[in-house]
Order: sequence, then structure tokens, then C-alpha cells
Amino acid sequence: MAGYLPAIVRQASAGALPLFSLGVASGDPGPSSVVLWTRLATDPLGGGGVAEPRVDVEWEVYEDETLARRVKRGRTAARIEDAHTVHVTVKGLAPDRWYWYRFRALGEESRVGRTRTMPDRRGAADRLRFALCSCQDYQNGFYAAYRDMAEQDLDLVLHVGDYIYEYAARPSAVRQHVGGETETLDDYRARHALYKLDPYLQEVHARFPFVITWDDHEVQDNYAGYTSEHGVPRDEFVTRRAQAYRAYYEHMPLRRTVRDRKGLTLYRTVDFGSLARFAVLDGRQYRTDQPCDAGGLPVIPECPGVYDEDGTFLGRQQERWLYRSLKRSRATWNVLAQQVMFLRGDLGEALGSAVPVFNVDAWDGYQAQRQRILDFLVDQQIANPIVLSGDIHSAWASDLRQDFLRPESPVVGSEFVCTSISSDFPAPFVPLIENNLGPTSPNPHILFFEGRHRGYTLIEVTPSLWRADFRIVDDLLDPESPVTVAASWVVEAGAPGTKPA
Ligand code: FE
Ligand code: CA
Repeated sequence: MAGYLPAIVRQASAGALPLFSLGVASGDPGPSSVVLWTRLATDPLGGGGVAEPRVDVEWEVYEDETLARRVKRGRTAARIEDAHTVHVTVKGLAPDRWYWYRFRALGEESRVGRTRTMPDRRGAADRLRFALCSCQDYQNGFYAAYRDMAEQDLDLVLHVGDYIYEYAARPSAVRQHVGGETETLDDYRARHALYKLDPYLQEVHARFPFVITWDDHEVQDNYAGYTSEHGVPRDEFVTRRAQAYRAYYEHMPLRRTVRDRKGLTLYRTVDFGSLARFAVLDGRQYRTDQPCDAGGLPVIPECPGVYDEDGTFLGRQQERWLYRSLKRSRATWNVLAQQVMFLRGDLGEALGSAVPVFNVDAWDGYQAQRQRILDFLVDQQIANPIVLSGDIHSAWASDLRQDFLRPESPVVGSEFVCTSISSDFPAPFVPLIENNLGPTSPNPHILFFEGRHRGYTLIEVTPSLWRADFRIVDDLLDPESPVTVAASWVVEAGAPGTKPA
């Protein structure tokens, strides 16, 4: 399989694809509006292939699958400076219903996409089903997880980062990146295009709206704010980050309003009626550098920096915004949708260390801010807090305690971490972690761990119950691999605590 290039990548490399080769997508649904996305690219890996500086694009929205009843239409321009990407915010839609859409440009027509609006505050919102996913390193395997996701009955997909990986092509990989490590705007654009050429990822985008935030690999592994963890000088990295952010916006179904004077402001709320409020967080852009000179490997013995009151994961402004958003929420379930593991995860015993060992790229590197958030959730009696995370390429279900070191302290909420769509989890860590769980371990709040498989988490929410099914891919090297449920965990509304289903 070494050196394998999917047919569509070979065609793309030959510059012979239809105009809508990257498919269609939708995102950030509200009760009356949603974003539609596409990109015009006949040669997506070679700069796009569209020479016109400005191409007229027509879009249409229908309220039925057979495209008999058109409810909205319009025109927009795909401009060369945006890599001919298109972001349309369709307004004036009815709440809580499905729509179908397509684009037309230069005599070609896109496939039909499907999307939906969210219920409004008044409407009944008695069931939400969504997929939580992250970390889709193209070179590490195929997207059977997305094939399975496309077949589900979902209202939306929540992607919490590592949508692309910046790594150079690895000749031994099961399927390869094209080119070296991404550094320039063109590199990042081509990398996003390569990922979007995957047929199963395209299928999921075409079927469900995405709510998305980024983690590190959309720019570079483990970066923090303007600091590269891989020695890129600061001024170079400032430019590189801006290019990566720009390519990210271009290729994601994000609202135009996330683009502002400062660049991209990604933190925002998404509501599913009165059932759930998602506070979508950005834990990369504003964070202080990982403490204690973590360098390349962020798993390190406890040091004073992890408790530093000046350390911040969200930045001060976003932290204040989060508190306001949660205070104002009237939702049954209040969700922090974000990149990395939130809970205290002491790996000391697992790694044979006498002192606690933390992954300081996660919230364990920013414990003062985490404590303020936990205290806030308790003090303000925020209803049914749930934290959703990715990044760590393995699946976890846990209780969140106000004081993780005191198992008798109150359970504040639950955390669910999805395993990766395809990215690697180092196998030697699996038994080390498995053998160090349970009530007498340093982490009695961790109730479930699965590190042997890739996949995603399917979540169903009702006013009385939160249910998470950890779906896992049997064989990552087979795009047609079966996908099964490894475990299911639930939380009852009004009764904090994570329980087996
Ligand atoms: Fe990752
Ligand atoms: Ca990551």
C-alpha cells in the first residue's frame, strides 16, 4: 500500500477535475439562517485552476429533497483572492427543518447538499443527535468513521480540531500528503483541498451542517498563541499563523462575521432551541505558552507553571465571554465544545513517576483557569454542564469534580472525549493507562478509556438524558471497515454523574 494515491488525488494532480471537485458544505446553523460553502477548483492541489479573478456563482435553497420547491436563491462572487471559495449566509429560513441546496457557476452544477436550521427558543426541541469528532491525519488511515457517520441520522457534526495536519508527505504512509510541511498560504490551501477530496468527508459535509473549531495542526503541532513549539522564529510564525488561519476560514463553512479586524474570532455560541447551548471555544489563539518549557513533548512532571495564575488557555476576554454566555443560557444542557482534555489527568503512576505527570498542552497546563471555570459552574449553578473534547486520539468518559483531588467534592458535570477519526494513538500508552484507572488510581474521576481504536462519538440529547455512544473503526486501513459501538455512557439531567448506559 506504500505510495498509494487515491484515484481522485491522481486526477487532481493531473488538473482534470470538475469545478465543484471539493463538494459542498454547510455550517453554523441558527434558527433562521445557515452558512453554505463551496470552492471552485478544477486543479485543487495545484493552485485551484480557475483563472478568472471573479466568478459569478448562483445558489439555490429548496425545502424538499426533489428540488421542487425553491425557497431562496441568490448570487455571489467567488474571488481569486479567496481561492474562489464561497460563503453564503442564507437568512429568513424557518426554524427546525431540513433544506437542500446547490451551486452553479461557469456552466457547471454542484452536487446537492442538505442542511438544517436549529429549533428556536419557543419550539419544542426534544431530541438532538450529533457526532463529535476530531483529528483526521490523512496519512495515518482512511475515513471509515466518516463513512459510518454519513449513514447516521444526525442534526449536526461538531468537529473540535486537527481538521488537517501540517506534516510533510511520508512515503511509507497508507495514503500520502502532497508536498512538504505546510508553511505558506498556498501550502495550507492545497492541504485543505487534499483533505476535502476525501469522498467520505465530502459526503458528511454534504449531509449535515458542521459546527467547527480548530486545534493546533491547522497551523502547527502544539503551537500556543504566537509561539511555535518547533522553533519557528516569532515573526515568521506570526505570518505563517495568519496564512493558516486565512486558508482555514476559506475552507470552512463559517459565518463571515467570524472574520474581523483582529483576524478570526472563532469562539461563539450555537443553540439547539432550549435543549442545548454550545459554547464553542478557541483554546489555541489566545493561550499562553505551555508552562515549564515543555518543548516538543508536552507530557512532563508537575511544575509550578501549571498552577500559574497568569497562565491562560482561553485568554481573559474569551473567559469573560464564556461566563456571560453560560449565565444567560436557559438551555437544559450547557456544553463547552473545545479542543483538548479538560479534566485532571495525572499520568504519574502510569509512567512510573513519584510525582504527578501532566499533559501541559491540555487544560492540565492551565489549572488556575480551569479551577475558575469549575468554580463558576458550581457557584452560578449552570444547568447540566458537559465538556466535549478531542486532540488525544483516544476515547474517554469522566466525571468533572470541583476538586479533582477530593473524590468527595461535588461532581460538576461530565466530560466526553472522542477518539480520532484517523490520527495515531501511541500503542505503548494504551496498557499503561488501562492499568492505571479505577477508584484507587490518581484519576478516580475517569470512568472509561479506549485507546486502541479510531472513530467518533455519537451523542443523543433529550431533556432528560445525555447519551454518548463511542463508535470505533475495526480496521483503519480499510475505508470499508465495519464501525461498531465500544461503549455507551449517559448522564441524567439534574443528576450529575456519568454512568454506563
Ligand atoms: Fe490530533
Ligand atoms: Ca491536537
